[in-house]
Amino acid sequence: MLQWLAMKHRMSQNDLLRRLPQERLSLLRELGNLADEGGVSLYLVGGVARDLLLKRETWDLDLTVEGDGIAFARLVAHRYGAGLAVFERFGTARLAFPDGLKMDIATTRRESYAQPAVLPTVQPASIEEDLTRRDFSINAIAVQLNPRQFGRLLDPYGGQRDLQARTIRVLHGGSFQDDPTRIFRAIRFEQRFGFRLERTTVRLLALAASTNLIQQISGPRLQNEILLLFAEHDPVRTIARLAQLKLLRFLHRRLCYTTKVKRVVIAVPKAFAWWARRFPDSVIDRPIVYLMALSSQSSPVVVAAMIRRLALSRAQAKNVNAAGRRVDRALNRLTNKGTLRPSQVYRLLTDFLDEALVLFLAKQVSAQHGMRLSLLKQHLVAYMKNRAIKTTLTGRDLQAMGLQPGRQYKTILGKLLDHRIDGMITTEADERALAHRLLKKAVQQGRSE
Ligand code: ATP
Repeated sequence: MLQWLAMKHRMSQNDLLRRLPQERLSLLRELGNLADEGGVSLYLVGGVARDLLLKRETWDLDLTVEGDGIAFARLVAHRYGAGLAVFERFGTARLAFPDGLKMDIATTRRESYAQPAVLPTVQPASIEEDLTRRDFSINAIAVQLNPRQFGRLLDPYGGQRDLQARTIRVLHGGSFQDDPTRIFRAIRFEQRFGFRLERTTVRLLALAASTNLIQQISGPRLQNEILLLFAEHDPVRTIARLAQLKLLRFLHRRLCYTTKVKRVVIAVPKAFAWWARRFPDSVIDRPIVYLMALSSQSSPVVVAAMIRRLALSRAQAKNVNAAGRRVDRALNRLTNKGTLRPSQVYRLLTDFLDEALVLFLAKQVSAQHGMRLSLLKQHLVAYMKNRAIKTTLTGRDLQAMGLQPGRQYKTILGKLLDHRIDGMITTEADERALAHRLLKKAVQQGRSE
């Protein structure tokens, strides 16, 4: 009887891995055999195990080895002709298989935190200890892959129970102290799966958020957490949740989350939808647009400090800097009555990146002024077409016409482009004639000065 039960148990565990596509399943079986050959225990661990239990599609495979993970990764790379990057310090390796599959292979480890919020010291340890260092019970699940234990589930913290109860639970009271990025991770999983934070967990989270722990997270790590949150499928709800838990102040303590800001944030998905339909080739950094919307009513000083705090890249910073007054000023000119020439629209928009153009839309959608919104849309459509227009003449041609190098190159080429955009000239000959006229004028002006 007991044997039958054990078999039934094993069967159902095997079923879990059968949820993987056939070729992944075969690969995992082969890797299990390889692990036996190498004398190590091999597990599928963390998010992959969780996603399998949730019947969600999972892309990358995270494996962990009780033994030498790097040596095992080398073996796998050699056997499958996969690309290999090794991170000796962390005992991890990343494999890129010829078919595009990415796989992380780690060594089971114990972590100790010398101080809160800094990266931990790492030592090899058993799989049980490895699961103990994880963030939440639902991420502390492993599935063994060695042939005789193929499909054996290790779930020491009740991860399956919490998945069923749709709950996010930390493993111990000091979890957020050890690593405050888990505060944002908790919200990421809560929002992604539509789960709730378990009662003690939410209390611990609020407690950790009331201290200055989050301030100790480095800029790049905080940026990573925030942008990952904004990359989830419903950042509008996520932002509301961050506000509810008083976490937005960690971007900047004076970040304004007013009703007006909320409206802009809520309008962002609509703006994305219109933009993607109209300009499918434009690749938008979506998370940054939410950050732009969120800081769109804050003062330049606050925005500059937020950019520094999050260690944003140059392009990200350019976008976020533009999101406030610069967008408002240009938006005002674009949507006020009075016709604008296509070249004027071009000049108003050309210094903005595409993310900012999406924010123009979101701001106008949130203003609920139908006529202005359709005017803006018309301008955007025209601008996106016109920005591909180039002049045939270049600086070299102006030089050949006798113009000395200087500021006037930009002015004259700019005028040629404006005339092209406005359809007033269409050929190279037109451009040359106009350039000659402008050159003559410039020479006359130079003489009279
Ligand atoms: P996603 O689907 O977003 O990739 P994931 O759970 O796979 O989610 P990763 O950031 O790839 O998340 O991490 C893989 C696993 O590593 C997690 O499931 C968790 O077990 C562990 N982990 C990651 N970050 C932490 C952390 N800050 N503290 C503790 N454990 C972590």
